[in-house]
Amino acid sequence: MTYDVVIAGGGPAGLAAALTLGRSRKRVLLCDAGPRRNAAAVHLHNFVTRDGITPAEFRRIGRQQLEPYAHVETREARIEEVRGTRGSFDVRLSTGSIKARRILLCTGMVDESPEIEGLGSLWGKSIFICPYCHAWEVQNRRFAYLATSLEKIDFALLLRGWASDVIVLTQGRLNVPDDVRARLKAGGVQVDDRPIARLVPASDGLEMERIEFTDGSSIERDVLFLHPPQHQIEIVTSLGLALDAAGYVQLDPVTLETSVPGVYAAGDLLAPMQGALIAAASGTLTAGVLNHALTVELAIEGLLA
Ligand SMILES: Cc1cc2nc3c(=O)[nH]c(=O)nc-3n(C[C@H](O)[C@H](O)[C@H](O)COP(=O)(O)OP(=O)(O)OC[C@H]3O[C@@H](n4cnc5c(N)ncnc54)[C@H](O)[C@@H]3O)c2cc1C
Repeated sequence: MTYDVVIAGGGPAGLAAALTLGRSRKRVLLCDAGPRRNAAAVHLHNFVTRDGITPAEFRRIGRQQLEPYAHVETREARIEEVRGTRGSFDVRLSTGSIKARRILLCTGMVDESPEIEGLGSLWGKSIFICPYCHAWEVQNRRFAYLATSLEKIDFALLLRGWASDVIVLTQGRLNVPDDVRARLKAGGVQVDDRPIARLVPASDGLEMERIEFTDGSSIERDVLFLHPPQHQIEIVTSLGLALDAAGYVQLDPVTLETSVPGVYAAGDLLAPMQGALIAAASGTLTAGVLNHALTVELAIEGLLA
């Protein structure tokens, strides 16, 4: 049996794509390997109708809403290798091998967290990437922004929309010109250049209490925002898909195919502007465009019921 589409990744993009393809009467296999990118987050926010849901509940509902579509199968499986060409792909899963006409990659991105002691246990609780997702819940607390480039340093001024006490941490690795410091200061943001030794949790272990520096001094902070570098999962690189200069998958603007014919992509792996609703919309759009081309092809070949 050949699947019409195999989807790699069961996050918002993959779930939305599976729904569109299921409703289009396509035979779909949705493979998800876990773990989820937002697994450490307590709640998912800024998704209309789902604001405040847990990430696990979001996925449970997504899977449940696929159940009426009998041609959509879901598997806890990792896609390990994709070979072949448009219309005839051989896909090796952690649970066996299958055939598919199209591949849709919804595998997200891998965050490269900076190696700072204490960061791992506070990730998703006091340490965040996206203020639209998490700043409301911690508004008016003591914020820090770990800046790694001058291009993004204005992000600290954006954070002033949620808190009056915001500092920028450069760890002494960014040469912040005087005029930029003056701009930040005018916006109520101080720059701190001390290198970080560790992030210290409060006694309950759930929230951050302070940031300790290598010189032994410290500053009380409740929240740290940062923009970690990201990379693609191995299958994206092994397929040799064309990436842009920042490492995101490039699509044909009309067909929404990647540079490998028959391989599509949706969600976080396309761009640095990321969010669950953006990923879901991307999955819906790509699945619709994919389905259109595939249905025309199957109709002409006499392969539709
Ligand atoms: C800590 C944190 C909190 C966040 N909070 C929010 C929030 O509140 N609101 C919001 O809108 N956004 C939030 N985001 C961003 C949001 O999680 C992402 O934008 C969204 O999950 C992207 O969806 P996706 O489907 O593209 O990828 P993902 O959700 O990352 O899903 C990709 C899936 O693919 C699977 N996978 C990877 N490789 C394979 C393979 N080879 N075979 C099979 N499966 C594979 C992974 O296991 C994963 O389940 C948060 C992100 C983080 C890191």
